[in-house]
Amino acid sequence: MGEQTFQVDFVKLCEAIGVRDIHTVDPYDLDQTKDAFQKALEFDGPSVVISDKPCVLMPRKIKETPYTVISDSCNGCKLCFRIGCPAIAASKELTEKGHPKAIIDLDLCTGCTICAQVCPENAIVLATEKAHAVR
Ligand code: SF4
Ligand code: SF4
Repeated sequence: MGEQTFQVDFVKLCEAIGVRDIHTVDPYDLDQTKDAFQKALEFDGPSVVISDKPCVLMPRKIKETPYTVISDSCNGCKLCFRIGCPAIAASKELTEKGHPKAIIDLDLCTGCTICAQVCPENAIVLATEKAHAVR
């Protein structure tokens, strides 16, 4: 409702109800997040993973500068499409094998970095770095 309030301490809340395996993660750090879920799955008992960053669907930027695709480096593997990010779409430009390359809508990108972390070709970079990368 837009009213000022206090932040719930989820770690203390979980401890108070008896949870012993608690992980707090930056969900935009894929390795850290995967590691936390792996440990939670292996723990014998209830676990909680706390995602401690603004939701990617909130209308606010994680980073001010959006990400973009270096078309020449994209091999059309589609890994970045599988994230489900609304800013990523199939380009009309095709690879030699006929697969569509990725393209990012700079206005929709919140700068969350997930696509750049999954791209095996390092084809996704900050829009400000693209000019250097294609030289
Ligand atoms: S993950 Fe990288 S190489 Fe694969 S389609 Fe996306 S931008 Fe292209
Ligand atoms: S950084 Fe990539 S995954 Fe994140 S909002 Fe931008 S295009 Fe989508």
